[in-house]
Amino acid sequence: MRMVLKFGGSSLASPQHIHHAAGLAAALAKKGTQVVVVVSAQGDTTDEMIENAKAVSASRSQREMDAYLCAGEQMSAALMAMALQQQCVPAVSFTGFQAGIQTDDCFGCARIQSVNPERIQAALEAGKIAVVAGFQGIDREGNLTTLGRGGSDTTAVALAAALHAHVCRIYTDVDGVYDRDPRQYPNARRYRYICYNRMLSMARRGAQVLHDRCVELARDNRIRLEVRSTFTDAPGTIVGR
Ligand code: ASP
Ligand code: MG
Repeated sequence: MRMVLKFGGSSLASPQHIHHAAGLAAALAKKGTQVVVVVSAQGDTTDEMIENAKAVSASRSQREMDAYLCAGEQMSAALMAMALQQQCVPAVSFTGFQAGIQTDDCFGCARIQSVNPERIQAALEAGKIAVVAGFQGIDREGNLTTLGRGGSDTTAVALAAALHAHVCRIYTDVDGVYDRDPRQYPNARRYRYICYNRMLSMARRGAQVLHDRCVELARDNRIRLEVRSTFTDAPGTIVGR
């Protein structure tokens, strides 16, 4: 069994959060599952970095913005690997580049063109959890690129496809996909199952829970997506056929 787990920023907001998320990954690894963990930047790091860049320059080049923003996910990846090691689970972190993620050169909204998961594969075969920085890749020329806001979901699904993982589980701060925003509508209903196309149209209409490109990629590669809360045991929502 091979699984990709993705943790969003709110699931990684503090050292305690990182350890909790690491514990979820470790529990699966201890049962014999090969685990890849994809991480977002911690908490509101990306927003704060954008504000910081605006304070430095009014005319920010997209290339430099991507070079800068990639660092948020890289920090999370190294911290997650350290947390796993602290829990006595072998782990190794990778940038998007090291994970073999190649994109086009559309800075700020790059699309993944290919994934060469050799190093991830080797880490898994050596019994390690592979931790990958989400949201990033490199273009043909070797420039750092980012996949657009929320793009770590897409990294997770692209890796799941390249590694023939059975499941891609998206851990987040809501306990699944709802028919309406549960924060605004108290009687919103959670889907237990939802099909790719319905999920895709919700994501395109602005449902924040999943990056639209991630749903497309899951549909095209028939990857089962599970959207779950990091903080409760609720079964969440399965996105599939
Ligand atoms: N950190 C990036 C963002 O805030 C990517 C992600 O979280 O998926 O948009
Ligand atoms: Mg997200």
